[in-house]
This record gives sequence, C-alpha cells and structure tokens, in this order.
Amino acid sequence: IMGEELGAGAFGTVFKATHKKTGKVYAVKVMRRRRSTEEIVRREVAMLQRVGLHIGVAELVDHFESDDNFYLVMELVTGGELFDALIDNGAFSEQQAADVIRQVADAAAFLHAQGLCHADIKPENLLLTERGPGGLIKLVDFGLATELRSPKRSKPGTWAYWPPEAFGDGSSCGKPTDMWAIGVVLFILLSGYHPFDPSGKADDAALQSCILKGEPDWDDPAWAHDSPEAKA
Ligand code: ADP
Ligand code: MG
Repeated sequence: IMGEELGAGAFGTVFKATHKKTGKVYAVKVMRRRRSTEEIVRREVAMLQRVGLHIGVAELVDHFESDDNFYLVMELVTGGELFDALIDNGAFSEQQAADVIRQVADAAAFLHAQGLCHADIKPENLLLTERGPGGLIKLVDFGLATELRSPKRSKPGTWAYWPPEAFGDGSSCGKPTDMWAIGVVLFILLSGYHPFDPSGKADDAALQSCILKGEPDWDDPAWAHDSPEAKA
C-alpha cells in the first residue's frame, strides 16, 4: 500500500509503503520507465544487489517492474535528508560534523572495499535515522554508482560535488570522486555553505570555474570558531 511521498530527486520519487501481509513499512523508489532511463535503473539495481549489508547503506529489499515503472523497495529511513537537518539546525558543531563524516567515510570505505564507487555523495543522498544531528547516517541513491574497475558515468551527477578532474574529457570516477564529495559535505556541515558556491546562486559555468581553481571560499564568519584541524 503506497503512502506519503518521502522525497524526490532527478530520477525517482520515493514513497512510504506498507507490506500488506506483514504490516512492515518500507521506502519505495518509483522511476518511470523510459528508454533513456532503463539502463540507469538496471544499473542502480545491480549495484545495490552487489552491495553487502552495512549499517551506513539503506538496504535494497526487493524490486519490481511494471509496464510503466520500476520499483525499488528499500529500508525506510525516517529522519529526513542531511540537507534538511542543515536547514533546520544551521551549521553543525565540529563534534556533530565528525560524527556524521565518520559514518559517511565508513560507508564509502565499505563500498570501495567491494570495488564500487558511489559517485553521488551529497547531503540529499545522506539520510538520518532521526531528525537533526545525532541520528545514524544511511547512504542512498546508487543511480550513479559504478565499478572501480570499469568506471562509467551513466547519468549526470551533481556538478557541485564533482572534483576538478571530473570535468575533463574521458574522465572517470573512482575513490577520489567520493573522497572529494565527502570533503565538500564536511565543509558544508561546518560552515552552512558550499565551498565553491557560497551564495548558492552560481550558474554551472561559474561553479565549474571555482571548482577547477580548487580554492574553497573561507571568507565567512562561520569559520571564526573552527579549529585549524577541522579546516585542514
Ligand atoms: P534520485 O536518484 O532521483 O536522486 P534518490 O534515490 O536520491 O532519487 O531518492 C530521492 C529522495 O527520496 C532522497 O533524497 C530522500 O529524500 C528520499 N529517499 C530515498 N531513499 C529513501 C529511504 N530509503 N528512506 C526514506 N527516504 C528516502
Ligand atoms: Mg538522489
């Protein structure tokens, strides 16, 4: 039984759903079947099926397809996106940010050890088991995930979290792609703004040029109280 909408991204809309027999509640990602998305969806399923169980990754429970849609049944994560926690709470303390990033890094290390790269780590794809700082982190959205051995970008990721080398011709993704994105997330957690787009209004060209320069914008009072270790 499909219930309320939990969130939406560029590719799918996720609903709460209840299993009729058991009454168990899950998250179901619904993606419209189009020729352009078919391969992406199949890859997302294949990647999720390859990923073993890890506390930091929302588990794929089942998947179905109809003539119109694909359905991915996942573990329900109820605390909302890290993105919303930032909007609700403002910047995190160093301790709160460290707690989050340790979990994200753990999940990424787990994927890397299995020969996979997530390639779309960002606050919208990091969910919390409880609202606000303090919840456990679960990584979702394997639509861009790829094998480290034969990396392939099949859908446009979020530019804002790409490393400089990703903009070059014939670029591929790997562990550094995830590491860079985790660094951007950490910067955002500590300061409340994007290192290469402080106003949040940069267009693609401006953002790309700032990322290519690779010099974050530290010019904000938010950094006045952070330790040199955190900044480093
Ligand atoms: P897209 O590929 O379109 O970005 P996502 O897989 O990121 O789709 O899902 C879109 C949004 O749905 C997420 O940003 C999150 O808010 C919500 N969502 C995704 N998976 C879950 C889940 N397992 N539990 C709760 N909410 C989820
Ligand atoms: Mg997403």
